Amino acid sequence: AKNDRLETIRTYSPAMDEALQLRRTINSELDRALMNNELTLVYQPLVCARTGKVMSAEALMRWPSKQGLAGSPGVFIPIAEESGLITKLGAWALDQAMLEIKRQKTIPIAVNVSPVQFRVDGFANSVEAALERHGIEPALLHIEITEGVLISHTGEAQRTMNRLRQMGVQVLLDDFGTGYSSLSYLQQFQFDGLKIDRAFIQQLDIGHTGRELLKSIIALGHSLNMKVVAEGVETEDQAAVLQLLSCDFLQGYALGRPGAADALHAMTGPEELL
Ligand code: C2E
Ligand code: CA
Ligand code: CA
Ligand code: CA
Repeated sequence: AKNDRLETIRTYSPAMDEALQLRRTINSELDRALMNNELTLVYQPLVCARTGKVMSAEALMRWPSKQGLAGSPGVFIPIAEESGLITKLGAWALDQAMLEIKRQKTIPIAVNVSPVQFRVDGFANSVEAALERHGIEPALLHIEITEGVLISHTGEAQRTMNRLRQMGVQVLLDDFGTGYSSLSYLQQFQFDGLKIDRAFIQQLDIGHTGRELLKSIIALGHSLNMKVVAEGVETEDQAAVLQLLSCDFLQGYALGRPGAADALHAMTGPEELL
């Protein structure tokens, strides 16, 4: 949905050239930015809905030197996925996150893995090798995938997921509820956690139906032995309702914005040190 506009442009030929050219430019700039160490990761906390304690953090990519819309991961990640550059970007993000885990050793860090990267042969092996190289407890790494990973190549995706989970890496289903067939994937794959897309959290402000829907999704997650995370929690009211509905973890501006690793470190109390 994020590149809907580009998709539309693609059907008109003069504009198509322009859009294609723009994507190519962004790609090569992004490749250069990666080589020049211009990309960074920021970290956003996930807090326990009951205690408010920071339980883990999600790593999100930033391209600070790139001004405008193209500098947003919602825009440049899909472009990098299309070109294949995401494989390099993703490997870099995993490595950076592992360095941070090693430095901090307090809470697990979740890395977003693109379907393109997840489906590369040997992905699970490369994660295992990287964990060993860094000397990191697999339980400190979480991987977030969207259902796009699972569309076609189902057998391979299943093997990769199983290997990761056997190693002790947790796998979470991201953006739950936004795709076409989230429910059928829950039948085929065992996830450690479910991240409810923020569109559902926003529905809480509108009325009764949104709340009932969330209640059902949370119960569904629990009945399938998953932890349930609410994404995009922006208000205290939303947080309070989600707590009442027994949601396990909350993430969003109300709990903490994405920020530098040091800020995250300050949020996690010394009692959580291993
Ligand atoms: P996502 O994985 O669903 O990440 C959540 C997005 O929601 C992030 O946007 C985050 O900054 C934003 N967010 C967090 N709390 C709130 C809130 O309370 N309200 C609102 N409105 N937004 C909130 P961001 O950082 O712009 O990333 C956008 C997307 O780009 C991510 O969506 C993810 O799909 C992708 N992405 C980011 N970093 C990476 C990465 O390292 N690898 C891959 N493959 N994808 C990434
Ligand atoms: Ca995510
Ligand atoms: Ca998400
Ligand atoms: Ca997303």
